[in-house]
Amino acid sequence: MHEHVTHPVPAEWAANAKIDADAYALKYRASVDDPDSFWLGEAQRIDWMRAPTKIKDTCFDTDNFRIKWFEDGTLNLAANCLDRHLATRGDDVAILWEPDHPDTPNRQLTYRELHEATCRFANLLKDKGVKRGDRVTIYLPMVPEAAVAMLACARIGAVHSIVFAGFSPDALAQRITDCESTIVLTSDEGLRGGKKVPLKANVDAACAKAKVDTVIMLRHTGADVPFVEGRDVDWAEAVAGMSAHCEPEEMNAEDPLFILYTSGSTGKPKGVLHTTGGYAVWASMTHEYTFDYRPGQIYWCAADIGWVTGHSYVVYGPLMNGATTLMFEGVPNYPDFSRFWQVVDKYEVEQFYAAPTALRALMREGDEWVKKTSRKSLKVLGSVGEPINPEAWDWYYDVVGDKRCPIVDTWWQTETGGHMITPLPGAHALKPGSASFPMFGVQPAVVDPADGHVLEGATEGALVILDSWPGQMRTVYGDHDRFIQTYFSQYPGKYFTGDGCRRDEDGYYWITGRIDDVINVSGHRMGTAEVESALVDHDAVAEAAVVGMPHDVKGQGIYAYVTTMEGVENTEELRKELIQWVRKEIGPIATPDVVQFAPGLPKTRSGKIMRRILRKIAENDTGNLGDTSTLADPSVVDDLLANSPHAK
Ligand code: ATP
Ligand code: MG
Repeated sequence: MHEHVTHPVPAEWAANAKIDADAYALKYRASVDDPDSFWLGEAQRIDWMRAPTKIKDTCFDTDNFRIKWFEDGTLNLAANCLDRHLATRGDDVAILWEPDHPDTPNRQLTYRELHEATCRFANLLKDKGVKRGDRVTIYLPMVPEAAVAMLACARIGAVHSIVFAGFSPDALAQRITDCESTIVLTSDEGLRGGKKVPLKANVDAACAKAKVDTVIMLRHTGADVPFVEGRDVDWAEAVAGMSAHCEPEEMNAEDPLFILYTSGSTGKPKGVLHTTGGYAVWASMTHEYTFDYRPGQIYWCAADIGWVTGHSYVVYGPLMNGATTLMFEGVPNYPDFSRFWQVVDKYEVEQFYAAPTALRALMREGDEWVKKTSRKSLKVLGSVGEPINPEAWDWYYDVVGDKRCPIVDTWWQTETGGHMITPLPGAHALKPGSASFPMFGVQPAVVDPADGHVLEGATEGALVILDSWPGQMRTVYGDHDRFIQTYFSQYPGKYFTGDGCRRDEDGYYWITGRIDDVINVSGHRMGTAEVESALVDHDAVAEAAVVGMPHDVKGQGIYAYVTTMEGVENTEELRKELIQWVRKEIGPIATPDVVQFAPGLPKTRSGKIMRRILRKIAENDTGNLGDTSTLADPSVVDDLLANSPHAK
């Protein structure tokens, strides 16, 4: 078995970090012992219009349920991202935009330019009848105008609902209808990895199924697209006639800021609703501490604005902190597998934040693509979205970061608004694959999945959060019962994350995967992450997904889907070797019953493995695969079906 060593905090980090080990311990204690004082302090990072005097009023018991933060405070989030920086850093770059193809000219917007663009667009929204509280659907590619659109909504108190610009017309229509928005912002086309995405055509198709009055369209690729008179508006033309002055709306801390539908890994997407004040404090605080962010640094989160990571860590968190945030239109493997690292070198990026799925895909192609770039500007590397297997973690640390950059493996959810469990680069020794320790104000607990009692010490079970934090979602849009039902009924009085977790003897948290994915082999409960990591540890394996399958004797058996490294031949010998390998690494109990080689795994558009589909294939219950509308590439499923042992 490969040895995954613990990395102590480097000396220069311990000496210079915003939060070192002692500061973490002190602040963490303060945040849970006296939340009112702690959060009153952290609230000072916001420019309030009226300062809050009531800080925390929350209760998870269903008969007295409430989540209110800073409830008598008023603010405007766009003003916090823009206006207050004008005097001090108006000419600093707010958004650096790197296009899909490196030869296309890049763009940059200073805080002053972003402020002006936001005001003009806010006035356009008002001109089109959008009022405080109205929902605005945003279906835009990764271009600066997407941030402008978000900030313009926040400026006038409209609630944005971003739909990832890769979703189908049906998925888009479903989300437009669910939040009852009558206006959609889009572009002629999107561009990803050299391929055009017909965004306007998708919107037109969605409009046939949803009630939309206005479509504002940005000309991005310049494609010739149909234009519906009376409904469609040309973005640039319309904005040119608007005033560059727009007073920010005074919003209450608990007024809605945005709706975002979860990725859909587990079922029907939920319209997660976030409010203004608590979210602002949370996004700003976590961005600063997790990345040890200092003004002047070039910071890059490679997530799409269609996901919560793009909301909190491409746009709101960095802009509140006066950062230069890089927005990347493209993909990691276009024009070639060096693209990420070339962009890092081009702008001298100091913090880089990406998903394990992208890292595993790049790892599969070999180290040369990385090694031919410098990356010496990098200081912190981040991971988000899925458990990062120790093998991929080591590769990120050794090859990408040259053993120099701490990795922050950030566990959180659309529902949590920002980081919940993560190491801080100057405070925590790193264990590859562990999300480590809770953020300030976060009280995680591990409970027995069967009866919900809290387990102490080194243990494993379901991950819950005992008390509220400012960035918590407030409801499922239009369905408060579903909110209570989904998150607070399983273990009464506690927020249920849906994830499984292990806490080791040093108090480190390890996310083991979704609790629904836990496999029970002859009475032994096993997280999918553990078996997958063992497989990825093998040199021939790039990625693996593991699910349970019915088994006469053991109750459940283990079914593993394996994607091998570029150039590896998928032979019968290798299959047997992998089965023995897992047996040796974890123990006989974890011996896979089936190993199926898979050229690709079914993933959501945010890059997460959809195990529920794999489970159906493993169970040979393929009549109804459930909601597959958020699947990135449905053809992957056909291949899996054709090559499953059941098909033979
Ligand atoms: P849905 O809720 O619709 O099924 P989703 O859970 O994939 O979709 P997100 O809110 O984007 O939607 O993802 C949150 C989930 O991602 C977490 O609950 C966890 O399972 C996983 N996750 C995120 N970050 C990490 C991490 N650092 N380590 C382990 N798992 C993570
Ligand atoms: Mg989820």
